[in-house]
Amino acid sequence: MTLIDKYGRPLLNLRIAVTPRCNLRCDYCHREGEECSLNKATEEMTVEEIVRIARIAVELGINRIKLTGGEPLMRKDLCEVVKGIAAIPGLKDLSMTTNGSMLAARAQELFACGLRRVNISLPTLNSEVYRKLTEGQIERVLDGVKAAVKAGFQPVKLNMVVLNGVNVDDVHDMMDFARQTGTILQLIELDPVNIDDAYFSVYHNFLDKHEEMLRQKAVKVETRRFMNNRHIYYLPDVTVEVVHPTENGEFCAHCTRLRVTSDGKLKTCLMRNDNLVDILTPMRRGASDEELKELFVRANQLREPYNKTL
Ligand code: SAM
Repeated sequence: MTLIDKYGRPLLNLRIAVTPRCNLRCDYCHREGEECSLNKATEEMTVEEIVRIARIAVELGINRIKLTGGEPLMRKDLCEVVKGIAAIPGLKDLSMTTNGSMLAARAQELFACGLRRVNISLPTLNSEVYRKLTEGQIERVLDGVKAAVKAGFQPVKLNMVVLNGVNVDDVHDMMDFARQTGTILQLIELDPVNIDDAYFSVYHNFLDKHEEMLRQKAVKVETRRFMNNRHIYYLPDVTVEVVHPTENGEFCAHCTRLRVTSDGKLKTCLMRNDNLVDILTPMRRGASDEELKELFVRANQLREPYNKTL
């Protein structure tokens, strides 16, 4: 079975924030649209709760799950989460997005537990720019990228949020790095979530010039229909994916995603917090699987394209 929302969009993807905690302070971070504050461990879901939510989701037709945060690697028990979710029958894809700074030591273990794909946030290759943007050390992330490739993750994607005046001119260097490391570069447009208007207006870039450059160089362009109609540009020796949601009705028209916040609420859209559906409280009060499925059904009915063309 697959749940379909009021706009005819199937529900196929779940993005679970396994913690709100993070070791970095990226100044552009949307924190997955969560209102809660950083570094609060008290409301985190347990491994069993996360795996149960994932299992119910898969029973309702969701077949792709991404772990996010905060920083997922802040959880010492992340491997248990991965193991539990990877074992769910019917799940086709389990991946994680990470800042990569703590990945080197755990890449092999995570792969052995059943994780198969990772996205690593890497906005620049310039260590000083990286430090200013994130308060982190780029060397640790580069080690994380190498370790992920070595461990066998396929693909390893590099998530680059493109910011005017900061890293907008680094795209070619990043393409070279992706080519050298056998990774895929993902250019991401800045979302106006959890950052102020002034920041957004200074740093936001529509990525249209980058897309034009990629279109000219590509030998093939693909559209990921169930991933917001994103474009993937296959250049002769490197692949670049572009995530461009702003004012893009096509992006929302092809959204197949639901989120779970780090405090256990079903969240219909990155951009909204006015229609969250609490699943953790009923679960902790002893709700049955059928009752929890009803909450998924309700959240799915509340899904709406943020930019409407439908
Ligand atoms: N800490 C993990 C990481 O760095 O990947 C997971 C959380 S982070 C919020 C998830 C993804 O969102 C990263 O790829 C990051 O680059 C992206 N991201 C963060 N803030 C963003 C923004 N304002 N607009 C677009 N993407 C953003």
